[in-house]
Amino acid sequence: MTNEFPKPAPDITPDTKLFWEGTKNNELMLNKCVDCGFHRNPLTIAANICPGCGSRNHAEWVKASGKGKVHTFTTVHRTFHPAFEKELPYIIVIVELEEGPRFLANMREISSEEITRDMPVEVIFEKLTDDITLPQFKPVK
Ligand SMILES: [Zn+2]
Repeated sequence: MTNEFPKPAPDITPDTKLFWEGTKNNELMLNKCVDCGFHRNPLTIAANICPGCGSRNHAEWVKASGKGKVHTFTTVHRTFHPAFEKELPYIIVIVELEEGPRFLANMREISSEEITRDMPVEVIFEKLTDDITLPQFKPVK
């Protein structure tokens, strides 16, 4: 698909490389503390210090269930980047996964009149570029 204004893509860093390799294989990967089992979102908590217990041991990569619930959401009616204008209005959601971490994403397959807090959701994957596949969410049906 060509687009006059390409969507901005996340940067791949050494800390997030395995996360983005996972999404290309339709897997949502988390960091799990080897000492206390605390799961964290590798995109938002990259520092190698566990928020659960303070451990500095390397976290292991584990596959998330991909299931969670809507923590909060908003409907975007006016975008600040022209690449998103064709999608207006769209829903931005913060999902709380079963494992605990929260993810900011787009919500698909639902209207702003239908979405509610605590609604069960599951991850879907959308290819943005050859390197980046984004995790998005849809309602569990
Ligand atoms: Zn820990």
